[in-house]
Amino acid sequence: MTRHFDGDRLVIASHNRGKVREFGDLLRPFGIKLVSAGELGLPEPVEDGATFRENAALKAHAAASGAQLPALSDDSGLAVSALDGQPGIYSARWAGPEKDFARAMQRVEEKLGDTADRSARFVCALALAWPDGDIEIFEGTVAGDLVCPPRGGRGFGYDPMFLPHGHTETFGEMDPAQKHEISHRADAFNQLVAGCFRKS
Ligand code: IMP
Repeated sequence: MTRHFDGDRLVIASHNRGKVREFGDLLRPFGIKLVSAGELGLPEPVEDGATFRENAALKAHAAASGAQLPALSDDSGLAVSALDGQPGIYSARWAGPEKDFARAMQRVEEKLGDTADRSARFVCALALAWPDGDIEIFEGTVAGDLVCPPRGGRGFGYDPMFLPHGHTETFGEMDPAQKHEISHRADAFNQLVAGCFRKS
């Protein structure tokens, strides 16, 4: 049995405005007031976990204990099979301080070389933590193959090189609404809602 969220305020454990807005859209039907860790002036914890789940958990625990309110966090990235799951939790860091994802995708391609196995998956871990230390974690994935050269100017990050299984367009070419139906984030979010939220 998962623990239900039954409060009316929830901290989004992120300083990233895009993520805060996305969570606002996703949680609107639940009538919950959202406040971000940034607005509360909470410090950003060091993300030194070894997995997506660990990083999501440490961000959610830090925000829940700092705000004394339930807190929701996410951690996500691209895991390439032939690279033993790299870049994984380092997906954002491969783009460097200038957040250059063309460079990050090129790095993936260079590391793959002429490897035949192009399979990869996006992973998203969502963690909902309470100030008493309880936590619920949900992990979503979407499987696909990497294409070279990358295709499409939509989405963000590694989207242009990711061709989800059963589709002919990369996440960079696809209508965003379609991506949001099948993405790793949607998968994790659906599990979170089924486990912890009731529509108001
Ligand atoms: P985080 O914000 O520390 O969780 O880093 C997530 C990183 O993973 C992003 O900067 C992207 O590089 C990558 N990533 C996660 N989700 C997606 C996605 O849906 N499309 C493309 N890249 C993604």
